[in-house]
Amino acid sequence: MTTIGHLINGEIVTEGTRSQAVYNPSTGETSKQVDLASKATVEQAIACAQAAYPEWRDTPPIKRARVMFKFKELLEAHADKICQLIGEEHGKIAHDAMGELQRGIENVEYACGAPELLKGEHSRNVGPGIDSWSEFQPLGVVAGITPFNFPAMVPLWMFPMAIVCGNCFVLKPSERDPGPTLYIAQLLQEAGLPNGVFNMVNGDKEAVDTLLHDARVKAVSFVGSTPIAEYIYTTASAAGKRCQALGGAKNHAIVMPDADMDNAVNQLLGAAFGSSGERCMALSVAVAVGDAAADTLVSKMKAAMVNLKVGAFCDSSNDFGPLITQAHREKVVGYINSAEEQGAEVVVDGRNPQVDGYPSGFFVGGTLIDRVTPEMVSYKEEIFGPVLQVVRVDTMEQAMQLINDHEYGNGTCIFTRDGEAARYFSDHIQVGMVGINVPLPVPVAYHSFGGWKRSLFGDLHAYGPDAVHFYTKRKTITQRWPSAGVREGVSFSMPTMK
Ligand code: NAD
Repeated sequence: MTTIGHLINGEIVTEGTRSQAVYNPSTGETSKQVDLASKATVEQAIACAQAAYPEWRDTPPIKRARVMFKFKELLEAHADKICQLIGEEHGKIAHDAMGELQRGIENVEYACGAPELLKGEHSRNVGPGIDSWSEFQPLGVVAGITPFNFPAMVPLWMFPMAIVCGNCFVLKPSERDPGPTLYIAQLLQEAGLPNGVFNMVNGDKEAVDTLLHDARVKAVSFVGSTPIAEYIYTTASAAGKRCQALGGAKNHAIVMPDADMDNAVNQLLGAAFGSSGERCMALSVAVAVGDAAADTLVSKMKAAMVNLKVGAFCDSSNDFGPLITQAHREKVVGYINSAEEQGAEVVVDGRNPQVDGYPSGFFVGGTLIDRVTPEMVSYKEEIFGPVLQVVRVDTMEQAMQLINDHEYGNGTCIFTRDGEAARYFSDHIQVGMVGINVPLPVPVAYHSFGGWKRSLFGDLHAYGPDAVHFYTKRKTITQRWPSAGVREGVSFSMPTMK
């Protein structure tokens, strides 16, 4: 059986001490093993990154960017292979995996602009014969810790920008589907990155804790669930590191009575059930304003869901695939059970889907639950499965209050034809990423990504312009070259330009 190892200093290595099963979620079988790094292996990766840093720091940004141009070409040339690996280990259908990869590649394209992004700021004559400028210097060794649900895209949110900014990187991807990430890491080496600039370690809490406590690691980017994000943020911050930790979500879509209902249904289908609902931007709650809108929405959703196709990753006619593990499948089914027990109405029940030829896959079919209320556990917590819950309210104000009161604030959307209502919504809603008739308002690579409230710990968002600031330290230099023979007098007061 294949064992997925670590990439340290340009070499694939395995320890052979501790390992964990990697499943093919479509068949339910263990298909590979992943080596779990010990503290010593993670420290070795950090040491290699540290050793590569002085030369990489002084490599001109244009040369760093050229590696990214080549990397982009390689990602495109090997896209089918990457998507195959995502399908095998995550279960994502090829069309969806290709979308994930393309979004990741767009971050590499943004990183190709490093020379422009790192130009800094310059002011001539801030005083007589005095010039001043700010430049953005790299931090040193930085680390990334990523979740299972986007094994290509989320790592690509982090390391291309960190590296072009002049840092060296240690990535700890999800141990549940590390294969596509390792393959991408090898393509980065092939693109001409010097050994040690990028390293990848597989592992669990032991590897993560080593990264959090090692003084050589200057900053940590994390994406994953909220309890772990909070732990990472508090631990890294206490250790004196810069940290951004993106957490979980509960994304609501308000469906106004004036919405184009057929369009809203189509958008909700993709945003709720695409990728089996295992997206931090999945729309998992539809808040219908008025009973008439709710009744129409539920009946149209129910009719449309008859055609939803859940199945194995290798059949591109499927709309979405299995969940990541059997344990996660049981958790999602548990949320559906609890909603039913607490009085909600399961309108479309995906708890026992029939998937021909794949009797042991971790499948849950598209599920629609009506008359969900804010007290229910299934409403309060993130389900992370193909489950759309409908909450009924009387007014838009009540819908917005519901969203603002929720502990998460990642994404949201309003379906309406009323521009005034849409503008009021986007202006006042306590959520970081807002869609107006756009169900998955995931910012493009040249904006930055981040939620509010308990969906993000830290100040700077992921990728885009915020990444330049996260992965660099500002230094401001003020310079004067007095003419030969000119002597300044002594002054004890604060220098001003008065
Ligand atoms: P997770 O929190 O279980 O794991 C994320 C990472 O943390 C993994 O690399 C894992 O090895 C590590 N980890 C897990 N437990 C740990 C512990 N006790 N100590 C130290 N490290 C630990 O998340 P997941 O299940 O892989 O991913 C799904 C979650 O990620 C969902 O909550 C989803 O909303 C969230 N997510 C958020 C975003 C975002 O941008 N906000 C994007 C994608 C996913």
